[in-house]
Amino acid sequence: MKHHHLAAPGTVYLIGAGPGAPELLTIKGASLLKSCDAVVYDHLASEELLELTPKHCRRIFAGKEAGHHSMPQEEINDCLIRLAGEGLGVVRLKGGDPFVFGRGSEEILALQRHNIPWEIIPGITSAVAVPELAGIPVTHRKMSRSFHVITGHTLKGLRDEQELAVYAKLEGTLVFLMGFHSLSVITQGLIQGGKRPSTPAAVIENGSLPQQRVLRATLETLAGEAERQGFHTPAIIIVGETAAFDLTSDKKTPFADTGALDGLTAGLIGTGHFIKKLEAALHREGARAETLLCMEVLSEEGKQFMGPFYRRLQEYTWLVLTSVNGVELFFQGLFEAGLDLRSLGHMKFAVIGAATGEALMARGIRADQMPKEYCCAHLAASLRKVLIPGKDRVLMARAQGASRDLNHMLDTAGISYDDVPLYTVKGRPELKMHQRAAGCDTLIFASPSGVEEFQKAGGFQLSHLHLTAIGPVTAAAVQKAAQRPADLVSSSYHIPGLIAALKEAKGRG
Ligand code: SAH
Repeated sequence: MKHHHLAAPGTVYLIGAGPGAPELLTIKGASLLKSCDAVVYDHLASEELLELTPKHCRRIFAGKEAGHHSMPQEEINDCLIRLAGEGLGVVRLKGGDPFVFGRGSEEILALQRHNIPWEIIPGITSAVAVPELAGIPVTHRKMSRSFHVITGHTLKGLRDEQELAVYAKLEGTLVFLMGFHSLSVITQGLIQGGKRPSTPAAVIENGSLPQQRVLRATLETLAGEAERQGFHTPAIIIVGETAAFDLTSDKKTPFADTGALDGLTAGLIGTGHFIKKLEAALHREGARAETLLCMEVLSEEGKQFMGPFYRRLQEYTWLVLTSVNGVELFFQGLFEAGLDLRSLGHMKFAVIGAATGEALMARGIRADQMPKEYCCAHLAASLRKVLIPGKDRVLMARAQGASRDLNHMLDTAGISYDDVPLYTVKGRPELKMHQRAAGCDTLIFASPSGVEEFQKAGGFQLSHLHLTAIGPVTAAAVQKAAQRPADLVSSSYHIPGLIAALKEAKGRG
């Protein structure tokens, strides 16, 4: 068997990432990921797979969850064409299989129009694997002689009754993808079309992942139960006799190797990137994670603010970047302005912590200043030692409303600077945030801005929640918003430190 497939320059590889669990990627997909220069990925593809990519690899996020806007298809196509045109080996990573409701074929047509070489690497589709891992076979001898994979995305109104009536006549198993938001339309339509109300039916949320949930019911009760139990996307709907099967093995949480946090449910408030990482770490310890509020990065306005500064880079001696998002957006803007790394050659770089430093390194630049502790005050302190008043001029490109610690330090030290709001962070509470928060053993706040947004969404109105804050700055924000100190504060801003603190607290109580 040939194990090594190297991504060729200028080629786009459409790779199916499988249903979610990272180990369900093909061997060929893995070796291409290990050797690519850029990866354009969707939200359904596991974040852990990105860890396979080499350090220099550009990681570009192309899609958010259903219902929230994502990069339009045209833009994704253009992005692939541009990256391949730069001579990079490009991976387009898609959840499941690229040709199953993945718009993979559209991307290939666009690549063909631009004469860009491409290759497709199939993936395990969620349509089969998600029910399978939940113990539901899509076919079974004499019971279900076929299965039908249907998009529920457009099934919203009355005009779809006819379409559902056609599906209602099919004898095989019905598998609906992207149908969760139309669940009651689908089940009612099928019943009206003639399917028995007592037909077994199931919803599977986060299939193949440690946080997978399965709901078994009948066609008649499924939508009500899913609502009552707070099911959410990504989810698959199965209708047919085999939906009553439960062929699950005993080994239900393949990730829980230590289980030190078994039984703990944590509610997470932070950026999508951070939440995904923290979620994976919690799962490894056997804990459950619920996203309560996800911070969204808005950069349109910031692009306009930043525009003129790219033309004046020569005036600055230092560039300060304080987040992975900041690094990504800064470079995106730089390239869009028609510039490249050479226009930064004269500058020194300061970053806020290790993750930001790594993001910078991924773009070929080593940070000159990186405080050991991730926080603005430490960054200010370390910068203060090296900046020379009257000589240095600092450009800060970061989130709007970021900590003023840096500004105060620069003001007092008499160093001139510009502080450009490169992006805005906005909180997006999950559906039924309060209800979900009430079911958590602790809420974990990853940043002061997350605390603020949670407060705006009325989260702190719930009493007797157990609150965990990452680092002293976030802890101070919690104290202010909740009007009481956080129950647990991890001294470290890193995930391993937080996990250790949670374990210790669990051991105590
Ligand atoms: N190309 C993908 C499907 C893309 S459509 C594939 O072959 O699997 C996206 C839909 O797939 C979601 O709306 C959801 O219905 C389903 N889906 C994908 N991964 C899932 C998962 N892990 N658990 C439940 N549903 C999933």
